Amino acid sequence: KLHNTILELKGNIRVFCRVRPLLPDENSDEGKSVSYPTSMEVLGRGIDLAQNGQKHSFVFDKVFMPESSQEDVFVEISQLVQSALDGYKVCIFAYGQTGSGKTYTMMGKPGIPEEKGLIPRCLEQIFQTKESLLSNGWKFEMQVSMLEIYNETIRDLLPSSRSNGNGTRTENGSAAKQYAIKHDTNGNTHVSDLTVVDVCSKQEVSYLLNHAANCRSVGKTQMNEQSSRSHFVFTMRISGVNETTEQQSQGVLNLIDLAGSERLSKSGSTGDRLKETQSINKSLSCLSDVIFSLGKKEDYIPYRNSKLTYLLQPCLGGDSKTLMFVNISPDPTSAGESLCSLRFAARVN
Ligand code: ADP
Ligand code: MG
Repeated sequence: KLHNTILELKGNIRVFCRVRPLLPDENSDEGKSVSYPTSMEVLGRGIDLAQNGQKHSFVFDKVFMPESSQEDVFVEISQLVQSALDGYKVCIFAYGQTGSGKTYTMMGKPGIPEEKGLIPRCLEQIFQTKESLLSNGWKFEMQVSMLEIYNETIRDLLPSSRSNGNGTRTENGSAAKQYAIKHDTNGNTHVSDLTVVDVCSKQEVSYLLNHAANCRSVGKTQMNEQSSRSHFVFTMRISGVNETTEQQSQGVLNLIDLAGSERLSKSGSTGDRLKETQSINKSLSCLSDVIFSLGKKEDYIPYRNSKLTYLLQPCLGGDSKTLMFVNISPDPTSAGESLCSLRFAARVN
């Protein structure tokens, strides 16, 4: 009971922090303790980061330690997946600097079942529930779309009917795509020219996810060759009809792997990279503004200030549910970025 009251007071926004383990090539601590007077301590739902003699403390709804497994993390979000099946609009974001574990959290390591990320686990839960509710008269239909937002421009990541079917896209000769975002009065979002695929099984979605992964823009920065400079948005619409009771539900599950949040200087950006970084910073700060304003229950929510927040507008606010993962690297050389990420998260928390 008390627990419920606290949840109600806090509204529908949660922030979970996940600290990934040190990677093998980060493990040599040669000189690090000298050059980087930094320490990170996790206590329950709190994280203390000490840097240059200053201690910064943060509290989240949940903190996952380096040893937390993908299953441990999934257990804590599976209720949100159920909410989407129950007709709620849900957004789960992964925020953090490049290399902090966003994609690991969302997608996991391909080919290693224990290391599957949230997206494949959500799909399992959704299609299992679909089967198990058949006997109660519920019939579900699912549709997916996958897109990325790169420099404030939407790109479709699914094969459209115009594509040649082997994974390469045939942009030549086809009319320029608009990807104009429209919200109807029922709170449904339409993006013109965006491919939306009816799906009946986990395997179908996995196939599409693979396709999407191959299409994503990646840029080379000094920080990470494969660094993602775009936001990846996976959307599944879940429509349920109960043929016995005539109940209906219309839920949406959005799973978003955000672009790396690192600051300019560290990625040594110039030219195109500079433009990317500025556009990423802008959309991440817009996201933070929107979530912050929602948390404060302000009258005006600045959804329109970025493509991402405008696209997700019906799924942010109202009775929809939002969860933000803040991914943190434990590497002392990343302490500055970690502090920025923790501050970002503290602002929306
Ligand atoms: P990002 O998407 O934020 O750039 P990644 O998800 O690609 O970061 O993670 C960077 C590296 O760290 C990858 O090699 C990934 O496999 C590894 N990694 C991230 N989180 C974990 C974790 N919780 N356990 C084990 N390895 C992880
Ligand atoms: Mg990534």
